[in-house]
Amino acid sequence: MTVGRVAEARLRLVIRGAVQGVGFRPFVYRLARTLRLSGWVCNSPAGVFIEVEGAAEALEAFHERVSHEKPPRASIQSIEHALLDPVGFGGFVIRESELDGCAGALVMSDIATCVCCLREIFAPGDRRFRYPFTNCTNCGPRYSIIEALPYDRANTTMKHFAMCARCRREYDDPIDRRFHAQPNACPECGPTLELLDPSGRTLCAANEALPAAAEVVRDGRILALKGLGGFHLVADARNEHAVRRLRERKNREEKPFALMAESLERARRLCDVSAFEEMLLQSPEAPIVLLRCRDSDLAPSVAPGNPYLGVMLPYTPLHHLLMAELGFPIVATSGNLSDEPICTDNAEALARLGGIADLFLVHDRPVVRRVDDSVVRVMADRAMILRRARGYAPLPTTLNRPMPAVLAVGAHRKSTTAIAVGRNVFISQHLGDLETPQAFDAFRESIAGFEKLFGFRAARVACDLHPDYRSTRYAETLSRSPVRVQHHYAHVLSCMAENEVQPPVLGVSWDGTGYGLDGTIWGGEFLRVHEGGFERVAHLRTFRLPGGEQAVREPRRSALGVLYELFGENLPMDLGFCARELETLLVMLKKGVNSPVTSSAGRLFDAATAMIGLRQRSSFEGQAAMELEFAVEPCEEWYDGAAVDWESIVRGVLDDRGRGVAPGRIAARFHNSLVEAILGVARNVGEEPIVLTGGCFQNKHLTERAIHRLREDGFRPYWHQRVPPNDGGIALGQVVASALE
Ligand code: ZN
Ligand code: ZN
Ligand code: FE
Repeated sequence: MTVGRVAEARLRLVIRGAVQGVGFRPFVYRLARTLRLSGWVCNSPAGVFIEVEGAAEALEAFHERVSHEKPPRASIQSIEHALLDPVGFGGFVIRESELDGCAGALVMSDIATCVCCLREIFAPGDRRFRYPFTNCTNCGPRYSIIEALPYDRANTTMKHFAMCARCRREYDDPIDRRFHAQPNACPECGPTLELLDPSGRTLCAANEALPAAAEVVRDGRILALKGLGGFHLVADARNEHAVRRLRERKNREEKPFALMAESLERARRLCDVSAFEEMLLQSPEAPIVLLRCRDSDLAPSVAPGNPYLGVMLPYTPLHHLLMAELGFPIVATSGNLSDEPICTDNAEALARLGGIADLFLVHDRPVVRRVDDSVVRVMADRAMILRRARGYAPLPTTLNRPMPAVLAVGAHRKSTTAIAVGRNVFISQHLGDLETPQAFDAFRESIAGFEKLFGFRAARVACDLHPDYRSTRYAETLSRSPVRVQHHYAHVLSCMAENEVQPPVLGVSWDGTGYGLDGTIWGGEFLRVHEGGFERVAHLRTFRLPGGEQAVREPRRSALGVLYELFGENLPMDLGFCARELETLLVMLKKGVNSPVTSSAGRLFDAATAMIGLRQRSSFEGQAAMELEFAVEPCEEWYDGAAVDWESIVRGVLDDRGRGVAPGRIAARFHNSLVEAILGVARNVGEEPIVLTGGCFQNKHLTERAIHRLREDGFRPYWHQRVPPNDGGIALGQVVASALE
């Protein structure tokens, strides 16, 4: 299902790069006038800010033409975009430059290789021919190599390399493309490659290392590749044997692997790629984009049973050269063990990835901070960032009013941290689940990094209400009275902040788990948010989860909890438990022992997946809900009486199942019914703005249908674009909440 674009909207662009003093503002002015758009453009130390509003097609054209028709001397390093509500600008104006910007606003994210550098590395005779560390003012590493501000070579990990005379000349020449390009380097003076065996012995170096590494991949072996923000594990994506071995060694059963395609043409052959998705793939941020697969000769183990593929294009010269050498797509997954953060250090990689990779392609440019690949999915014709890291972090989200100096420590899964400096909120890159010591280290490093990089001193610390999160405990060591923000409230505030929505709103905050005000596990929440706080106006009917957290890995436990809630011990279906196990679980449910009460929407999705018979156990979080989404067939129906009390929905599912209705149809009716439940609450509450947030809204069918149905009824739905709907967005919401205290 696709959702039509709104007739009128406001497009905000934040453009960073060499865009000041090159006639950029007059160019924007002329373009806006040509397209009959109203709004403004303004310079600030953080970049050029543009807001335009008008017809959707004109906004699209503007977005496209700004980057393609820019003045010759302007170079764009990043363009952030967001679609917001129109505010009714009169005409188009060039606003006075704003000086409101802090030093931190100048910390750039890592930028994918530009076309000029790309041309050089593939031009025989060029002095940078085949040089994997080529970069210029328009591209190259930034956030991953900055140790301190100001952003000078001496404050980056390039300080270990003294520029040769020719590089120095480029660096000093104001009209050279490499004028003040801090990571400037060439084969004579810059970093070099080495191919190591798992014991750390050098097999070959420099120009010989890359073809030798390519040979390793071609042979079906596994290569650990040190890239921009850490290590990737790489294997031939067409070789089932190689991919399977990577899964076994990495201890990753079924969670999909990301792919790197050597070209856009290859990506198009593997997947359906829309013009918008094409733009995302080729953007300076170069994220992993989730694309619908076509039939291909890829190894089935790349993304088992998943109709989507996470695809990215090469984003450093090293990746470009390797991919050109190979000429086929590779699996490129984070160099780590299961859910640990990505490895960055050569010695660390040898120690931790020694059992996984056959060989290591490394270099001697140190990585200051772990930065994973970002993940984006197109949702209702807009980009939705599901994992915000390389290319986006640490670019700030600018709020409409200044915040106190808050440090927000985020939640637990998909952890991020954030700080507020004036109107700018800097959100850290994705840090992983705070389960492992490595993730917790990354978490502390991110906070230390904020202090060092931004000269930040927290006046306030904000954390989740959950007393047992490691992030909460850490916040308690930093402050005697941290601001404790209810999880689902933080989700709603986060989505409101990035969409510039003012209260009152109805927040629909659906996820797996979050600590509720009453000490139970919330997760299917409807929060009416007003100026100073929120009320929980409705929630999904609660049920018990036998075994608590264990239910995350076993959707049938959620199903058991749901069925027990309706039928007690007279279960209407067999969930595949053995007799003894079932007996134990029923005792737990009856006595309320180790079976916490929850209103979790995520677990209700799990339950439905198990009841439909799609999956009884999961090997990673969210797997069941994902499969339920993927199963959905086109179908407009929902179950009669669908409401937050899901009894009629579950009875409908059981009926359908008994009658042998196709799983895809049941999955559709289930999704559609939950959307009707949202609509029901929205009608009761009567607030026009509806904010859709929480991990459940990574589900395309749920989100797009909710947007569609809410709009049909005259509501104004909002969803996430720049900040993840999952717990990666919590830190931003915590910042906003703590400003209200
Ligand atoms: Zn470049
Ligand atoms: Zn040089
Ligand atoms: Fe959450």
